[in-house]
Amino acid sequence: MRLHIGIDDTDSLSGGCTTKIAADVVLTLARKGVTFLDYPNLIRLNPNVPWKTRGNGAVCLRIESDIPPETVLELVMEEIERSSRLSDPGTDPGVVVLEGTVPSEVVEFGEEALTRIVTPADAISLIKKVNAQAIGYCSGQGIIGALAAIGTMLDRDCTFELISYRSRAFIGKPRLIDEESIFQMSKEMKEVTFNNVDPETGRILITPRGPDPILCGVRGESAEAVRKAFQMLRIREPIDAWIIFRTNHGTDAHLVRNVAVSELEDNCAVIVEGTVKEKPHTIRGGHVIFLLGDQTGSVHCAAYEPTGRFREVVKRLEPGDTVRGFGGVRPPGGGIPRTLNLEKLEVLKLVASVTSQNPVCPKCGKRMKSAGKGQSFRCKRCQTQEPSKIHSEVWRDLQETVHLPPPRAHRHLTKPYVRYQRQRRKSDLLPTSIWHSP
Ligand SMILES: [Zn+2]
Repeated sequence: MRLHIGIDDTDSLSGGCTTKIAADVVLTLARKGVTFLDYPNLIRLNPNVPWKTRGNGAVCLRIESDIPPETVLELVMEEIERSSRLSDPGTDPGVVVLEGTVPSEVVEFGEEALTRIVTPADAISLIKKVNAQAIGYCSGQGIIGALAAIGTMLDRDCTFELISYRSRAFIGKPRLIDEESIFQMSKEMKEVTFNNVDPETGRILITPRGPDPILCGVRGESAEAVRKAFQMLRIREPIDAWIIFRTNHGTDAHLVRNVAVSELEDNCAVIVEGTVKEKPHTIRGGHVIFLLGDQTGSVHCAAYEPTGRFREVVKRLEPGDTVRGFGGVRPPGGGIPRTLNLEKLEVLKLVASVTSQNPVCPKCGKRMKSAGKGQSFRCKRCQTQEPSKIHSEVWRDLQETVHLPPPRAHRHLTKPYVRYQRQRRKSDLLPTSIWHSP
């Protein structure tokens, strides 16, 4: 029989990691002889969920096996009880096992969990309806992600991540990967991997910080690409295991809902289209804020300090510019109004920016002076006259295109620039080859 196993929220701040438990479950199931129908799926859900400690990631394993669903559920529970820190606050693991084909309601639930806030009650009623088996520990919050991961089929866009895990004795110590080999890999594999290094700062992005069991994660367009890229790294510590996940990383899967300002809901991922209502300004801490309005109202948009040069782009907006803001809705609080935290900005139409200056004397080249209110302009020396000021359009140093923060400030889900180019190139392939064919 065909089984879908969703696992979520075994992460905690002090260590523990959903993907590591998934990797252990994969190895256990493989030893029992099950057939995997897909790469393990690593699914990032709504990044704006406020109670999430990290990347809001869940895992789904899709297998064909003779093992009954109850036994599979028990196996996964054993791994969770062995590895996760159930006593840590915010660690609320959940496991869901679904037999057969994934019903469309579960797919819809996955879409909801990617962009909005869903509750354990929503998950429980759906689990009953589709006859799935589920276990939620602690608050039971984890069954949301477990069910949503099952419903996310990754059938539009997807990427791959090879995650390698440290052996127990090394967890908490500095990661021993030759940095030069990371830069070299990033350069050689730049067409098929992404977000290895932040170009603005040179910061290495494939290694997490802190005590978690992940040594590094390499992201790319195919399983072969991430495997090859990983093999290029010179790693100087033992690796416990590595596993390739198929993911929604770098796909913008969460930025799909166009929402009017009056319909904004807190903690949701949205797209808001409108015009800039006020010149952007910088507040304490270096964050840049502007007001974006549509026919239903207006909302503050923020580009935070960690978004680096992205703020310089936002600062160049002028009132009247038409833009599309992509990001998460931060609830009002602490004297700060409801704010759209910008993850990306698309400039659709720039207004002409006009300056006016006094005319220049055609004889001597000096600026003319006004002869008084409502009167013409004169050069005192040459006695020349011009009727009015000269209006000239100022060049707007801003492109009508998509603007992104640097990779170091990206969410897992954020689609990086390099993937836009890749998609364009794919669609360009057909006309080019026809054009060149003899
Ligand atoms: Zn003159």
